[in-house]
Amino acid sequence: MHDSCIITPWDAGRVARAPGGRQMDQQAEPADARRRIARTDVLLADPRLVEAAGRLGRGVVKAAVVRAQHRARVGEIAPEAVADTAVEALPPTASGLRPVLNATGVLLHTNLGRAPLSDAARDAVAVASGATDVELDLDTGRRARRGRSALAALVERVPPAEAAHVVNNGAAALVLAATALAADREIVISRGEMVEIGDGFRIPELLAATGARLREVGTTNRTTPDDYAAAVGDATGFILKVHPSNFRVTGFTRGADVAELTGLGVPVVADIGSGLLAPEPLLPDEPDAASMLRAGAHLVTASGDKLLGGPQCGIVLGRDDLVRRLARHPLARALRVGKMTLAALEATVRGPRTPTDAALHADVASLRERAERLSARLRDGGVDARAVDGEAAVGGGGAPGVVLPSAAVALPEPYAVRLRRGTPAVMGRVEDGRCLLDLRSVPPDQDDVLAGAVLAAGR
Ligand SMILES: *Cc1c(COP(=O)(O)O)cnc(C)c1O
Repeated sequence: MHDSCIITPWDAGRVARAPGGRQMDQQAEPADARRRIARTDVLLADPRLVEAAGRLGRGVVKAAVVRAQHRARVGEIAPEAVADTAVEALPPTASGLRPVLNATGVLLHTNLGRAPLSDAARDAVAVASGATDVELDLDTGRRARRGRSALAALVERVPPAEAAHVVNNGAAALVLAATALAADREIVISRGEMVEIGDGFRIPELLAATGARLREVGTTNRTTPDDYAAAVGDATGFILKVHPSNFRVTGFTRGADVAELTGLGVPVVADIGSGLLAPEPLLPDEPDAASMLRAGAHLVTASGDKLLGGPQCGIVLGRDDLVRRLARHPLARALRVGKMTLAALEATVRGPRTPTDAALHADVASLRERAERLSARLRDGGVDARAVDGEAAVGGGGAPGVVLPSAAVALPEPYAVRLRRGTPAVMGRVEDGRCLLDLRSVPPDQDDVLAGAVLAAGR
């Protein structure tokens, strides 16, 4: 601390004059303790930290050491505890992203990265993260279509789709459709479907940013097929139907179905948002790709990380010539997805049930049983825990107003912050002065981890 400090006469006088100031305090009793804090290079030679540096990188480990030294300097921990504290504070990976148990009861929590991947998708990501045949045919040794097996999987799962294309997210799918099919032309859209997706992003502004002109028809609550017919003309690029995925309009309303718009001589693009490939009986108001295409939509756009339960991506399904126009547009290169996304998407589409689907379909009796079992175990550990009924939601801007009956473990409110800051982090929700851990969004095989986190937070 003092090694590089040259004290000039002026400084010396100032330090000497400071009555009971900082300099005095630091020189007092704790100085002895501070001298006992090991130097950084000595700490970095601790075998546990040497091993961690090989795994996480020296910078990450050094940052943990410096933080622990600081805590000792300000008296938060004993000087002898610096090495142990640094080891405990090491992140699980070299990335700042930490695993979180989602006990919010919101199945697709945008702030928690929406859909959690299935084990099959995680395995596929791990394999694809090395060198992989994403653009190579290993039989012939020739270059092959990028992501061909993921695209084939989508088309197999959605029989009315002739072709598929994948981009970075749902918004990118819309931007690509607007650019490839309607740059300098008009997109006909109902005033009742001018949607803000979230975080200030508005679909009309997104579309206008591509250079397409919006031709608004109808009113907020009512738009008829005639409104569309009157607006369609030589300048029309396509008709866009946007699923109002995060709000509901009720009362005196009228909308036009895709089937009522397919005879107007221009492509109909349906933005379904949620990514359901086939109808989901639990969510009768959520549109799905197969039904939209059967109803006559020429293209469907959707997100990969909402109800489909896969990685963040945008999916385009539909008529071969239109999909090709999108895929061959120069902008497609800027919106293309990585090999790990393609791997996760294919494993999601072909693989076993996704965590999102399992959570959506979990029956409330089994959730109550889990809540009772967990609460009893926590009470045995001295935690004031109680099983309660709760209400979960789909989230991610999907299925507005749909209530999923659920069960939760209720804890005293202070647990919310402690759990959030714990390892693994647990996100519950605070309701009526209690911290609720909703089990619908927690995979059943994580109950032990959840119990461990609560017990640790209680200590
Ligand atoms: C979510 C959503 C989008 C945006 O998709 P992202 O994958 O978040 O970019 C677009 N349209 C609708 C109807 C949506 O629900």
